[in-house]
Amino acid sequence: MPDQIIRATAAGASIRAFAASTRDLVEDARAAHGTSPVATAALGRLLTAGAMMGCTLKSEKDLLTLSIRGDGPIGGLTVTADSGARVKGYALNPLVMLPPSPAGKLDVGGAIGAGFLQVIKDMGLKEPYSGQITLQSGEVAEDLTYYFAVSEQTPSIVGLGVLMEKDENSSSGGTVKCAGGFIIQLMPNASEETIKRLEERIVSFPSVTEILSGSSDPAHLLEKLLGDMEIAITDTIKPSFYCNCDKERVEKALISIGKEELAQIIQDNETVEVKCHFCNMGYRFTVAELEKLKKNHK
Ligand code: ZN
Repeated sequence: MPDQIIRATAAGASIRAFAASTRDLVEDARAAHGTSPVATAALGRLLTAGAMMGCTLKSEKDLLTLSIRGDGPIGGLTVTADSGARVKGYALNPLVMLPPSPAGKLDVGGAIGAGFLQVIKDMGLKEPYSGQITLQSGEVAEDLTYYFAVSEQTPSIVGLGVLMEKDENSSSGGTVKCAGGFIIQLMPNASEETIKRLEERIVSFPSVTEILSGSSDPAHLLEKLLGDMEIAITDTIKPSFYCNCDKERVEKALISIGKEELAQIIQDNETVEVKCHFCNMGYRFTVAELEKLKKNHK
């Protein structure tokens, strides 16, 4: 089944929910960046969350940025998403390798370490909305749960998961077997009864990847969490790993490094390849092109 995000309400619209299966987009990100298994899991979780959160943006031009900076070996992650659930992103150290966590899982929390999560929503206003929290575990889902509670005052439960095909600890690492997640949010009119039932469900909830490895239909996630709470699916969206970079954007970035740095690159007298951070696409610049950029530099 292709990647899909389901948007739904439940319990008489007192619950707002998103569920996503994102295997293909996480695999696209892995292939683009050549990420190690633990970096694939970390980036895949944040891309999945970004895709779901992007769906809450109102306008096509709005942009959501999720940025994590930590003292662990991965250094940090940045993901952006638009209202059409098109996401892109990167890990600062995409090749990081770590032994599995005590539970035998990819150690995303250990890779990220202690630090901060920042959420920026640029909605075309003068000042973009920005909220920042201290990382709770570095496992991404728990950090976002905390972010929603503290910065957006919305009690939420976030689940995210990425499972690799096999051989999780070799450098080749294999491909992504399944990936996805959910965001369940309680609206102010949620009853005590609803909250209690949801809490019980969470306790017995297996894991995102356990459910999605059986079937990649994200409806199964909602069924497990909100079954018999009158789930009403309001929308389905196809998320994707997509970057809008082109040579012109990369030129602008090159110009912004400064005239002296540019002169230094030209001195080497070689064609250079500049890579887009977000998708790792390479753009080649000949010495003549670099000279022209330098001339246009103010
Ligand atoms: Zn790009």
